[in-house]
Amino acid sequence: MSTTGVENSGVPVNFRDPKGLYAEPVLLGSLTLDPTNGGLEPGPGGNRDVNGGGAGPEYSLPVTGTSEGPGGALQGGIMPGSPVFSIAFDALTNDKEMFYGLFMGQQSENCESDLKKLGVTDNQIAMAALNANIINGLGVTGATTTYAQAGWGASPLYGSAVAQFGSTTVTQYMTLVNPAAAALAQLGGSNIYINASWVNGMSTSDRQAMLLHELTHNITGKDDESLQRALGLPTGAASQNIGDRLRGDCFK
Ligand SMILES: [Zn+2]
Repeated sequence: MSTTGVENSGVPVNFRDPKGLYAEPVLLGSLTLDPTNGGLEPGPGGNRDVNGGGAGPEYSLPVTGTSEGPGGALQGGIMPGSPVFSIAFDALTNDKEMFYGLFMGQQSENCESDLKKLGVTDNQIAMAALNANIINGLGVTGATTTYAQAGWGASPLYGSAVAQFGSTTVTQYMTLVNPAAAALAQLGGSNIYINASWVNGMSTSDRQAMLLHELTHNITGKDDESLQRALGLPTGAASQNIGDRLRGDCFK
């Protein structure tokens, strides 16, 4: 199965698509960013995340200085890769299948300790990996699904997410509000929206740690701040720190 990026001609050249080969929704101009916080908004119930993203159910990379999208300088060793969704989709599909087998068994002691703190079991991860839907956050679905619906559509906090984010779409969120967001998970659901450029720039272990992080959102319905707190990590930092912990403990 392959979901090839929509090929087109005459589409805009931009930072994700320097050759202008892929049709993307361009949605500039309809979203007002708050300059007092660099345009980054916290998720419902979460604190503002001052370095690289909101505190919602996403996976934000730490960004040097102000928010920069793919092409910008990043900390954490992740640089943007190919913007082609099918590459990231295929890699994550393989990871999902690997997880389904791997988490049918017991993990290392450190990994099991993390999972226990996060409140998830191996079997839950195996099943969530099996059921997860990998969606192009910069494709048609991302452009027509609100950020509130994508992240909180199955959560009791949906109402407050709507009040906060209104009609902001996933694509707008990933390009304008938090360009450092590599992925966004549905709290308490099975959807995972991705920015393929970031996913394709990751090492295999970074990508798998990100997937485990997103599956934890899917299973628990908890946002980044809750997961960071559960692991004893700084809550004011970009949520990549969750993936980094899981990578070290589960995917060495
Ligand atoms: Zn997250």
